[in-house]
Amino acid sequence: MGATLPPIGATPRWGLPPWTVDFHSEQHAPPEETDFAVVGGGFTGLAAAAWLRHLEPHKRVTLFEASRIGACSSGHTGGMALAETAAGDLPGLGDVLSGFSNILRDLQVDCDLTLPGALEIGRSGVLPNSPIAWNDCGTLGITREVPGGTIDPGKMLSGLAQAAIKRGALILENAPVENLSLDKSPVLQIAGRLVRAGCVLLATNAESLELSGLAGLAAPKFTMAVATGPLSPEQISSLGLSSGKPFYTVDLPYLWGRMLHENRVIFGSGLVHLEDWRELLTLDVAEGQAAELLASLEQRVHKLHPALRNVQMSHLWGGPILIADKWQPVFRRHAEHRDVIVLGAYSGHGVAQSVYLGAWAAEAMLGRTELPDWNLPD
Ligand SMILES: Cc1cc2nc3c(=O)[nH]c(=O)nc-3n(C[C@H](O)[C@H](O)[C@H](O)COP(=O)(O)OP(=O)(O)OC[C@H]3O[C@@H](n4cnc5c(N)ncnc54)[C@H](O)[C@@H]3O)c2cc1C
Repeated sequence: MGATLPPIGATPRWGLPPWTVDFHSEQHAPPEETDFAVVGGGFTGLAAAAWLRHLEPHKRVTLFEASRIGACSSGHTGGMALAETAAGDLPGLGDVLSGFSNILRDLQVDCDLTLPGALEIGRSGVLPNSPIAWNDCGTLGITREVPGGTIDPGKMLSGLAQAAIKRGALILENAPVENLSLDKSPVLQIAGRLVRAGCVLLATNAESLELSGLAGLAAPKFTMAVATGPLSPEQISSLGLSSGKPFYTVDLPYLWGRMLHENRVIFGSGLVHLEDWRELLTLDVAEGQAAELLASLEQRVHKLHPALRNVQMSHLWGGPILIADKWQPVFRRHAEHRDVIVLGAYSGHGVAQSVYLGAWAAEAMLGRTELPDWNLPD
């Protein structure tokens, strides 16, 4: 039976991002047993589930998503694909962008991936020929170009989910994992039912921090973005964005952005600091600090350049990010059970990392590779 779930855009409390997730899961009861349980239906969990079945078509793979596919960060992201983690390169990380492209190619996920490069922009050290010259606490211009590009997040979510389903993984939406008991083998509890798993991936990112063992170790934040309505080619050219490359500041105040179809431009900035991840459950971008930060982002965009002065914003939204120690992603075995892997906390650099490391986690669950040692105690 097909379940009709609201699109990502129907999460009104966090606003409306400019893409949709075209995926509807079938309704299934949780199985009593599964070889691999993946908790969380964002980019990380979906990539891991699809990659597990891609490599081992006969193993049972079940993904449990508390809400809908992409309900948290992945559906509310900016969609910039970056090569490095927020902490820069890490030992053994490898070539993230080519790994990311190859995984999407092998899983036949069409998400408008383009990797023309990304622009680092700043208020000092601006290149003499910078086509960008924006007014934002000084003159912002291009300081360096690095590898990078963009995806359509809605298409990447639905493409990964379809890839997982097509290969035989089970995706259960509206299936929050309420408890994980770590006996001899891990047992998950979903709506009071117990599911015994051979191996578990916890890809719950900024939520369920007690479940992932990250409470007190990683800080959930909420960050904002706006999208302009369609701009003319002349406006895009005078903004210095004709190359279509995404951009982010290397100094403060922080600003990132990218082009989208129909010559729209997305800009993002601002952080709401949260004491407890549960604040995400009631946070509303129309109220309080999130509303103030969105309004100031909008004003800032209007002042960046005369071409943006009177532009209408078509979309305003926000979403969570998770920041861990030294801004390094968390990728490790659970302290209490080696068959449970925790992956997430990309500190706002998760679009390419989540798919790349999600596939890596799948290979580790299959015993084909080891985890990196980034999160070992000093
Ligand atoms: C506004 C914004 C802009 C961003 N821009 C960029 C960018 O341009 N480039 C970049 O690289 N990164 C960016 N990021 C970060 C990037 O989006 C995230 O790092 C990435 O989406 C994380 O994916 P994930 O699958 O790990 O987590 P999520 O997408 O958050 O998925 C976690 C899932 O787990 C589910 N879950 C939680 N608890 C449970 C439970 N108990 N049981 C079952 N399911 C559960 C949630 O419902 C959720 O769907 C941005 C983030 C935001 C918010």
